[in-house]
Amino acid sequence: MTHGSLNTPDTKLSQFRVKGEIPVPILINWLTAVAIPLLLFFAWRSSLQDDPVTSPLLLAIAALLGVNTVLFWLTGSRLMQRRGFIALITVLFTYLAVHAVEDGSAIIWLFAYPPIIFYISDARVGVLACAGGFAALILLFSPLGDALFGSPYTSGFRLTMLAALGFEMVTCYILDQSRRRSKLGLLKLAADFEYAAKHDSLTGLANRREALAQLDAEYQRYLRSARSFSVLLMDIDLFKAVNDTHGHHVGDELIILVARTLRNECRKVDTLARWGGEEFLVLLPETESSEALKMANRIREAIARSAVPVNEHRVKATISVGVAGMRGSESIDRLLQRADEALYRAKTLGRDQACAAEGEHAA
Ligand code: GH3
Ligand code: MG
Ligand code: MG
Repeated sequence: MTHGSLNTPDTKLSQFRVKGEIPVPILINWLTAVAIPLLLFFAWRSSLQDDPVTSPLLLAIAALLGVNTVLFWLTGSRLMQRRGFIALITVLFTYLAVHAVEDGSAIIWLFAYPPIIFYISDARVGVLACAGGFAALILLFSPLGDALFGSPYTSGFRLTMLAALGFEMVTCYILDQSRRRSKLGLLKLAADFEYAAKHDSLTGLANRREALAQLDAEYQRYLRSARSFSVLLMDIDLFKAVNDTHGHHVGDELIILVARTLRNECRKVDTLARWGGEEFLVLLPETESSEALKMANRIREAIARSAVPVNEHRVKATISVGVAGMRGSESIDRLLQRADEALYRAKTLGRDQACAAEGEHAA
């Protein structure tokens, strides 16, 4: 019953998917499916142009992209698929730029790099890859690059290419940040809704619906493993009088106090729920009813010891508890009914006590 944290680091954000978002492995598969015929086409064109390096290189990259996809199908490793794809397109785009393929026009493919990188990897990798690529392009266009590679690009083209690519990279970064923020906002909203649907707003305990869901889950475990569990049904004694004497606000404070005491006294594995107005239910997994009765009395005593300070008064409360342990093939309804009958008995016997359900082996 913990509230799942959504202070999700950026690297983990890709694990969550919002409706309509294309999953990264599928996008990579589609990009690969489009890239392979394109590479084959340009490899064929290069072979006609008497280029001994480009054609085999494009064919090799097409083959490796295919291998990357097959490996992903075989291993299911998303990380390996993404890294393989990024490495291959980085090599490809670097080659296209350095060797001025297709009369130097293939360098324009660099514009496809930033949006792909930002989509398929986290923001840090996107920024590093783009910054590295931009620095490499500056080097290629520098006098040193000319000396090393003898690129045929005109100075006007170089300036325009750098300005436009830099502009595109910054725009991609901004869009990517806003996409991630929207996604985080949606995930946070979904988590908040889920939390509100399962919890009581006054105490933060599970609400009745969630308690029933947990009871059902425990019941299924019981059917499989026959490991018994117990429930405590508790009700604040003479609570109406507290409201009438001190006001509703103090009544609320008392309800919060009981919830806090339950948290202090119970184990992490127990489900603590606000069952109704001033009624609470505790589900104790793997607990026999005799043990549950001891627990009920411990909680009852702790509540009797505590109080809500009001001006110079200390407003105290007691609780009555009905205890029932799951037995045989009875249903959840029957178990709750027995706990309710035990609670009723605790009330009629004078309140501030815990009673085991009929037929339980009380300790
Ligand atoms: P008993 O010992 O028999 O349980 O007596 P009681 O007065 O506790 O029982 P009763 O069911 O007559 O009163 C329950 C009261 O709890 C009535 C209702 O106004 C009050 N109540 C229910 N929910 C809340 C709540 O969220 N806040 C406050 N302050 N009071 C609540
Ligand atoms: Mg009541
Ligand atoms: Mg009551």
